[in-house]
Amino acid sequence: MNEEIKISARNLNLYYGENHALKDINMDIKKNAVTALIGPSGCGKSTFLKSLNRMNDLVENVKITGEVTLDNENIYGENVDTTLLRKKIGMVFQQPNPFPMSIYDNIAYGPRIHGIKNKSKLDEIVEESLRGAAIFDEVKDRLKKSALGLSGGQQQRLCIARALEVTPEVLICDEPVSALDVSIQAQVLNLMKEIQKEMNLTYLFIAHDLSVVQYMSDRIMVMYLGKIVEVADSKALYDEPLHPYTKALISAIPVADIHYKKKRQVLEGEVPSPIHKPSGCAFHNRCPYCMDICKKEDPALRYHGADGHMTACHLYDGSEVNA
Ligand code: SF4
Repeated sequence: MNEEIKISARNLNLYYGENHALKDINMDIKKNAVTALIGPSGCGKSTFLKSLNRMNDLVENVKITGEVTLDNENIYGENVDTTLLRKKIGMVFQQPNPFPMSIYDNIAYGPRIHGIKNKSKLDEIVEESLRGAAIFDEVKDRLKKSALGLSGGQQQRLCIARALEVTPEVLICDEPVSALDVSIQAQVLNLMKEIQKEMNLTYLFIAHDLSVVQYMSDRIMVMYLGKIVEVADSKALYDEPLHPYTKALISAIPVADIHYKKKRQVLEGEVPSPIHKPSGCAFHNRCPYCMDICKKEDPALRYHGADGHMTACHLYDGSEVNA
């Protein structure tokens, strides 16, 4: 087993009825690193994250083929305890989902299940967790009140505190700060970063704000219509994006230096429906570099360049390197 790899997907395909939502996903998530997923809305980012702790099992009419391993064990194998799996791979959702119970009990729920009954110990855990998520001072006088009475931003910070409290090995976060007020976003991101380092957690997260992605991530995966089109270390992806979709995304990031003239690449057209994907490369109807082969053949994800930089694009046919 490769100690550096925490999660691997091999030939992972997922269908919601007729919608082929994830297509031939083959990738590795590095242990103790922060991996970000970026791409347009509806491209399969959330579906991919949920396939890593089998949350998609709860969706009607879903069909999943291929393999996902956590520490080399297939999570879709027989006799997998999904409750234990979801404890190891915790999740913070875009929309906060506090339990319908008190603020205190939202945090104490997990420790109690794991046998901690001592009140002072529970008090300590609750305070520490809430302080960690930068919400303690706001709620310390109403810990016994319902968590449903908190504002959206407070609820999300409570959920982050709760997710970290059960000490997962992997934390998957679907836009974890997008529901928070801008004034608190940086505070919570800093906190999550500190906790990731202190606890050696593996993070996978989705964010639409590319500055947040750049700040948080060690590695980035770019998705487009259910497929991974580029994977690279964060710096390499921002400095030298390969795939035309990634290039357009990166070109849209504002630059603080007024003397630096950056040419923004504006993409024509809309993202096609995931149910009616274009033939060949799914990006070909918007790509300024489209060639004949792009309309016929879907390019495979291959290594190009150093440090595991991969892309799926015919522009680089013939320049593959070994992993
Ligand atoms: Fe553009 Fe062709 Fe590359 Fe697709 S494969 S991104 S259409 S150049």
